[in-house]
Amino acid sequence: MTTSNCIFCRIVSGEIPCAKVYEDERVLAFLDINPLMPGHTLLIPKKHSETLFDMSPEDAAACGAALKKVAAAVFKGLDAEGLNVLQNNHEIAGQEIFHVHFHLMPRKTGDGFKVPWPAKKYGPGEMESVLQKILRAL
Ligand code: 5GP
Ligand code: ZN
Repeated sequence: MTTSNCIFCRIVSGEIPCAKVYEDERVLAFLDINPLMPGHTLLIPKKHSETLFDMSPEDAAACGAALKKVAAAVFKGLDAEGLNVLQNNHEIAGQEIFHVHFHLMPRKTGDGFKVPWPAKKYGPGEMESVLQKILRAL
């Protein structure tokens, strides 16, 4: 996808309006238009990258620093009791907008939101083999 037909690039350029929460040289954060709960915020690098894997180290670092700042403000400003950060890469993981973004989701008792967590067990030797695959790719 080119940046001109990317919704988030059009938000960065100001062509599409947003409820802006935070901005710096590299990062923009704004309220999600269809929130899972009030205060659901999206944080993006201004420069277009499809996924986390395509981001420059500089953009990744800038997003990390801004994430801490913006998450703390969402948490405090909304009197939240908790906060989830979610980041989807590729369609299989639920990514719908192909401009990398972090979801910040403030949590309150009774908000009705639950992250599915169907935990499993490793089979014999499986954990070590999975670990080696990741280490070889590092
Ligand atoms: P994804 O499923 O790709 O992780 O999340 C994309 C998010 O972008 C969704 O939560 C969706 O509501 C939000 N979104 C899509 N279009 C717009 C828009 O034009 N403005 C804003 N503020 N959020 C949007
Ligand atoms: Zn984009």
